[in-house]
Amino acid sequence: MMEKHEKAGEILKQLRDEVVKLVKPGVKMLEVAEFVENRIAELGAEPAFPCNISLNEDAAHCTPSKNDQRVFREGDLVKIDIGAHVDGFIADTALTVNLGDHDELVECAELALKRAIEVIEPGITTSEIGEQIESVAKEFGFRPVYNLTGHGFMPYVAHAPPTIYNYRVEKGVKVEEGMIFAIEPFITSGAGRVSERAETEIYSVISSKPVRMRMAREILSEVEKYRTLPFAKRWLRNPREIIISKLVRDGVLRAYPVLTEIKKEPVSQAEHTVVVEESGARIIT
Ligand code: MN
Ligand code: MN
Repeated sequence: MMEKHEKAGEILKQLRDEVVKLVKPGVKMLEVAEFVENRIAELGAEPAFPCNISLNEDAAHCTPSKNDQRVFREGDLVKIDIGAHVDGFIADTALTVNLGDHDELVECAELALKRAIEVIEPGITTSEIGEQIESVAKEFGFRPVYNLTGHGFMPYVAHAPPTIYNYRVEKGVKVEEGMIFAIEPFITSGAGRVSERAETEIYSVISSKPVRMRMAREILSEVEKYRTLPFAKRWLRNPREIIISKLVRDGVLRAYPVLTEIKKEPVSQAEHTVVVEESGARIIT
């Protein structure tokens, strides 16, 4: 089981280096997302969720649509968030590419992640991890995004306990040897909160209750293979908006709308998956 998390992590480690070189002004976002997702499969894993490419004030849950023509532009702050799994055992990582003048935001997220990882040892609580992140953000004069978190994993579940807040909480969870979780500081010059905006490209199946419409059944049989993991609308042969919306309203699919910083200020992100060992945290991505 841990070997499978680690294999997924190895693949992501390699992909981190490859993807950074691709993100340049003029390059299509869709090209990068498809490269990442195909490369994960080529290297022997499966995407744990669609490659997230979130720009500037968008923090998470953006992925290109089918035939998306958008390109990266000079000035963009580009978050790339990648997940892979082997038989449901997930690794999750993210990095920020700065195509503008956002050096401090990027540096801050990376340092917050580094400090958070350094403090980990069996016996501390998750609150101490969050405390590091918040304090680095404040040193830079920024804020962490308070309503986005790191997380543990369960087979085919990308967000499981423990929740790793990006700030000190009253009651953390005790960190124990053998735990695996993702730490992901999001840092912003804005208010430090995200809210949903009206654009959704990512969904997951949350109920197996029977549906009657033929086109809805077709979509559900197509996404069955993702089990409880998120998938992209563009992965569907025939992504019919009306059918998908109905499945969301009926509680069969969960929608993941794009999350954007409430003051429309830029957001950076850094993320690694770590395994807790006797001597401290080992990064597997
Ligand atoms: Mn991630
Ligand atoms: Mn994550």
